[in-house]
Amino acid sequence: MQPMRFELGERLRLRKKHPCGSFDWAVVRLGADIGLRCEKCGRRILLPRSEVERRVKQVLPRLQPTELDPFDEE
Ligand SMILES: [Zn+2]
Repeated sequence: MQPMRFELGERLRLRKKHPCGSFDWAVVRLGADIGLRCEKCGRRILLPRSEVERRVKQVLPRLQPTELDPFDEE
C-alpha cells in the first residue's frame, strides 16, 4: 500500500466516529504525529501517521487558508 501524504488544511473523513458524532477532521499539524481537529466539536487529537492512514476513509476538499488555525506550540 502506498504511504499517504497529508497536507495542512486537508480534511479527512475517518472510519470511526468521534463521540460527538462527526467523522470529519481537519489536518492542523504535520510531523511524526498528525494533529487533527474535529470539525464538529473542535477537539484536537494527535495520532501517529500510521494510525491516521489506517483510519482514513476519504480525503475531503481542503479548507480555505483563512479557516486554518495558527500553528501552536505545545
Ligand atoms: Zn468531535
